[in-house]
Amino acid sequence: MSETKILLEESAIPTHWYNVVADMPNPPAAVLGPDGNPVTPEALGAIFPPALIEQEVSTERWIPIPEPIREIYRAWRPSPLYRARRLEAALATPAHIYYKYEGVSPAGSHKPNTAVAQAWYNREAGITRLSTETGAGQWGSALALAGQLLGLRVRVYMVKVSYEQKPYRRSMIRTWGGEVLASPTDRTESGRKVLAADPDSPGSLGIAISEAVEEAASRADTNYSLGSVLNHVLLHQTVIGLEAREQMALAGDYPDMVFAPCGGGSNFGGIAFPFFADKAAGRDVRLVAVEPTSCPTLTRGVYTYDFGDTAGLTPLMCMYTLGHDFVPPGIHAGGLRYHGASPLVCQLHHEGLIDAVAVPQVATFEAGVLFARTEGIIAAPEASHAIRAVIDEALRCKESGEPKTLLFNLSGHGHFDMAAYDKYFNGELEDYEYPEEAIHAALAHLPKVGTA
Ligand SMILES: *Cc1c(COP(=O)(O)O)cnc(C)c1O
Repeated sequence: MSETKILLEESAIPTHWYNVVADMPNPPAAVLGPDGNPVTPEALGAIFPPALIEQEVSTERWIPIPEPIREIYRAWRPSPLYRARRLEAALATPAHIYYKYEGVSPAGSHKPNTAVAQAWYNREAGITRLSTETGAGQWGSALALAGQLLGLRVRVYMVKVSYEQKPYRRSMIRTWGGEVLASPTDRTESGRKVLAADPDSPGSLGIAISEAVEEAASRADTNYSLGSVLNHVLLHQTVIGLEAREQMALAGDYPDMVFAPCGGGSNFGGIAFPFFADKAAGRDVRLVAVEPTSCPTLTRGVYTYDFGDTAGLTPLMCMYTLGHDFVPPGIHAGGLRYHGASPLVCQLHHEGLIDAVAVPQVATFEAGVLFARTEGIIAAPEASHAIRAVIDEALRCKESGEPKTLLFNLSGHGHFDMAAYDKYFNGELEDYEYPEEAIHAALAHLPKVGTA
């Protein structure tokens, strides 16, 4: 077998999502309310439908995917798995490199895998509107698409700096019938507070989440939707890894290492968790989350309880954090800018069961360009973080002569990120190590309850 594209039939779209909690050695750390006591599922009912809350706390290994969601998945799933032969040749590496390509979805990333599921469960619960935040716009556009397909209205609070720099993702949201606002806005208490302190605030994911949560909590017809971080989001994304396992088997190979870019953790969890099931069953496989050095949550953050948003409206989650008032450095062009990350991914990292590395941005773009010039596909800058780490490993294999099998999640295409590629070509990108002082300063503002 020496296929370049390893394809599955539509009938091979997974029938169940995989819940990693069933295979974790320890139960997930409790999510805490403002009083320091565990949050009850009922308390989450103000912004999430019952089925998603059930998934959030489920310990069942397999959760059935409702047939109407599988129907919609058929528009782009199963996604292709590629063998990166031209990249391997350019690197002269003995490594086998494979990538799962999620850029084939209508929105161009893995995000519709959960957007469709979330919109469907909300509609089943009688909800007619969804509010959400978006950074670079991938999540906002994915949820607008899902809202359009399922008949829900969608309002997106888009981080202001991205709203101004990524006009085409804004246009995509509108094309799919969504409404998009530059956050911070003057429509919410949280937004007004930020604007009063800094009228020129560039916004951040933490601020936009506060605005979207506030809106959902104050309207009965509206729920909140999150594109990453939460357990149910990572659960929905496991279709990626479940398909990839089948495809690797068809290719007659099995990965020694699985890589994915990691911001909030959904595309990492999506591809890596099904392989974690194999690892839990004794198989030797390393799972590597790749983040930017300018937002080094897993590699340099502190493992403790923190809010998911800037205003402190969300429950406290136990995770690696750079502090909930983290505002990412303006020179960072590659996404993955959240101050925390999925509590499941963080706990597995804390327990030494997965690995994390941080890569600098110039080398990340260099890797994305080499990938485009060999494999043809122009990767989203987020995905290029994984490409960088894979290339580094493939070069180590070249030194050692080890023919390792490397798999990564090519989480999306970069067709709407060409301004960032232009910055790279114009020599306008710099490497940036997030300063130690900034981490110390942010940690001084951590909530006082429940230090892990
Ligand atoms: C959102 C996104 C990511 C990051 O996903 P997280 O869940 O935040 O880790 C990576 N790649 C692409 C293309 C994305 O749209």
